[in-house]
Amino acid sequence: MRTVVDLTRCQGYAQCVFLAPDVFELHGEEGLLYATAVPDDQEERVRQAAAACPVQAILLGEEVTSGAR
Ligand code: SF4
Repeated sequence: MRTVVDLTRCQGYAQCVFLAPDVFELHGEEGLLYATAVPDDQEERVRQAAAACPVQAILLGEEVTSGAR
């Protein structure tokens, strides 16, 4: 699965970092780093992170790629 964070929406609430620390990492106040290719064993965590993001900045694979795979 792939994920993309809309960094123009991201407010650095760090909910995603808390829920999926292997995928999302916060550097300083506003620098969110993340893995675009989500390992299989992290998918559930990333889904929870996407649901928890207060500004819906996290897009998941189905929304990122349409129809592919
Ligand atoms: S939960 Fe959303 S707003 Fe917060 S750091 Fe993650 S992507 Fe950004």
